[in-house]
Amino acid sequence: MKPDGLFLGDLYIGELAEIVYMDINVPAVKRLRDMGLKEGILVELISYDPVINKKVLLKVNNAYLGFESELANFIRVRPIKSFYHLYKESAMYDSLTGCLNRNTAYLFLAGEYEKAVSNKLPFSLILIDIDNFKKINDTYGHDFGDRVLRKVGEMLKKNIRRTDNVFRWGGEEFLILMKGVNLKQCYLIAERLRELAKSIEISPFGTGIVTISAGIDGTPPYISMDELLNRADKALYMAKKRGKNMVCTFYWRYANENV
Ligand code: GH3
Ligand code: MG
Ligand code: MG
Repeated sequence: MKPDGLFLGDLYIGELAEIVYMDINVPAVKRLRDMGLKEGILVELISYDPVINKKVLLKVNNAYLGFESELANFIRVRPIKSFYHLYKESAMYDSLTGCLNRNTAYLFLAGEYEKAVSNKLPFSLILIDIDNFKKINDTYGHDFGDRVLRKVGEMLKKNIRRTDNVFRWGGEEFLILMKGVNLKQCYLIAERLRELAKSIEISPFGTGIVTISAGIDGTPPYISMDELLNRADKALYMAKKRGKNMVCTFYWRYANENV
């Protein structure tokens, strides 16, 4: 049977883990058990040096416990949520909306787009900008504006497939990437999101506070990712110019006129 968990020495420094197995056939490990280290308790790895000092130092119940590093090979652990992962996540996500951030978008865009192009799969994007957001801030305050941003982010995430991604692109702009979706399908999705934005409820004012505009673009043709983004941006500008609360394509016409 494959033993459960990782070796204690496989943890990152600072990582928190639960002890899941200790081989008490090893007398020194049994002594650790007698000192209070046992299955089910939480430990934090403070240091692990199997080369020079050959010691491991753990934090257990707010106290420190040091022992020979080779004993780490007889103790198995299950990481809780590592600082490494927390750090990685915090670098990927926008802290206000919980959407992926713009840096992450750049990482995803290149890879996903390349995959779509080489597999000749459609690929679409929606660039969304909240209408008159400055006025919302000015009228109801910045905190209210923040709540609007969170609600819009939530609504977008809730109404796309799990395999698609929503990014906070800028202040009140969001970008959605959709794999395997062509421009026509993308339009239908963007229209649905535009409708849903109107029904976002924000207390104490209820619905009708928020409208969004969107510029959409998609393949084919397989132009570069930069060009695709650029065209979506131009389409968004068009939607604003034509009166907002609207979805447009790059083709300088209303997207619902048979894209
Ligand atoms: P349009 O309909 O043409 O998009 O106009 P707009 O008012 O939405 O756009 P504008 O670019 O004039 O204003 C965007 C505002 O978004 C300005 C900025 O202060 C605000 N903003 C940007 N980031 C945040 C944020 O994190 N929180 C809040 N509350 N406001 C933000
Ligand atoms: Mg904007
Ligand atoms: Mg705006």
